[in-house]
Amino acid sequence: GKADDEYDVLVLGAGPGGYSAAFRAADLGLKVALVERYATLGGVCLNVGCIPSKALLHTAAVLEEAQTMGEHGIKFAAPTIDLDALRKHKEEVIGKLTGGLAGMAKARKVTVVQGLGRFADPHHLAVEAADGKKQTLKFKSAIIAAGSQSVKLPFLPDDPRVVDSTGALELKFIPKKMLIVGGGIIGLEMGTVYSALGARLDVVEMQTGLMQGADRDLVKVWEKRNKHRFDHIMLETRTVSAEAKEDGIWVKFEGKHAPAEPQRYDLVLQAVGRSPNGKKIGADAAGVQVDERGFITVDRQLRTNVPHIHAIGDIVGQPMLAHKAVHEAHVAAEVIAGQKSFFDARVIPSVAYTDPEVAWVGLTEEEAKKQGVAVQKGVFPWAASGRAIANGRDEGFTKLLFDAETHRILGGSIVGTGAGDLISEVALAVEMGADVVDIAKTIHPHPTLGESVGMAAEAAEGTCTDLP
Ligand code: FAD
Repeated sequence: GKADDEYDVLVLGAGPGGYSAAFRAADLGLKVALVERYATLGGVCLNVGCIPSKALLHTAAVLEEAQTMGEHGIKFAAPTIDLDALRKHKEEVIGKLTGGLAGMAKARKVTVVQGLGRFADPHHLAVEAADGKKQTLKFKSAIIAAGSQSVKLPFLPDDPRVVDSTGALELKFIPKKMLIVGGGIIGLEMGTVYSALGARLDVVEMQTGLMQGADRDLVKVWEKRNKHRFDHIMLETRTVSAEAKEDGIWVKFEGKHAPAEPQRYDLVLQAVGRSPNGKKIGADAAGVQVDERGFITVDRQLRTNVPHIHAIGDIVGQPMLAHKAVHEAHVAAEVIAGQKSFFDARVIPSVAYTDPEVAWVGLTEEEAKKQGVAVQKGVFPWAASGRAIANGRDEGFTKLLFDAETHRILGGSIVGTGAGDLISEVALAVEMGADVVDIAKTIHPHPTLGESVGMAAEAAEGTCTDLP
């Protein structure tokens, strides 16, 4: 765009939030510019997040599964790993999706502008391309979708053997011994990948348990199945310093399970959370308020304190998840197009794509306890599921939580293979205000893992005939 071009909507950042907002706005007939500093669309999620991690996790799951085939009478030789080819596969997956986005932008006549954007005033964004070329874009409305980046621990040395999730996804080499700093979803997913490729893992976490947010009964199932990957799970412990030496990164710990001596690692992954990019976009110049941590506060129409500027995705707060960003994006675009849309999700599902997967949505038992909500639960252990047994993966279970009085579904959790794909039914139940009996009376196909949701409801009703 030229300086005097005026866009109806300018979208800053082309992650799941940004591209979804741009496409919806264009579909609603608005003239849209989409500004992205990197050469490909898709943001963190497609380039260095959700998608590449899932491509590698699939490989990891198949590797693990192949090893258990011995029990079925099928023996594979130890795998030979061609890291270059695996990396290439991952790049191809990303390329397909980001290329698809470029095509979708073109088809909608969304003007994609590559460069680093900063607000110049409430109606202009200055964009500087990598080659130093500058231009200014004029807009009527804007949507800030500048996302987040991983938090860096200041005391970790600047060394190629110290990486964040982006560095870990580059798959430069397979370490013999890897430390994961932060036992959340991202750290554990990357650990799963490296472990399947042959790395031994340590994990250090300040909290009392891994995978915070999920109920402990689910995490226990994951732990039992994943113990073999770890030498040390250091809870209530933190890293305090590290030194890069020729033979590795030597890390010192403090806390409940801290080893007395510094430990040596070939690779250290820092996965201690993500911080929003709010302070890097010249928000001041547009009058948009950004809090101390870099978050932008918005209302239910994703409007900032400046009425014609909206913000969506990781930059507006937790949960920092792609599906949340996409839904907020649609609302922001629709509001700008004059529709009366609101972001009004009752629940946003969370999934750890580990092996087994851990998925939860709505109220958890822990939260119910904290909030003093009287809940009942229906649980179906996969040890009673024909399909799970046939798959050789019956360690999981499905749990539904419902209001003790009204029997309305308030949430649910699933641990087991494919749990992330199964949790949507529970999300739908909560969104629609379903009662337990609605799920119990819904005919689920047999034999499927999805059936376990129906069985959990029947278990709650006391009508499950598949339980011992
Ligand atoms: P982002 O995806 O962060 O996109 C922001 C974009 O804005 C970036 O492309 C950035 O380059 C651009 N930008 C920023 N500032 C400027 C500027 N000044 N000028 C120009 N461009 C700018 N979520 C899930 O839901 N499921 C998952 O399985 C999942 N896995 C993940 C795995 C990893 C390893 C990581 C790191 C994250 C994962 N996430 C996952 C989180 C998910 O990636 C984010 O929630 C999602 O990408 C947020 O989308 P967004 O549009 O808000 O921002």
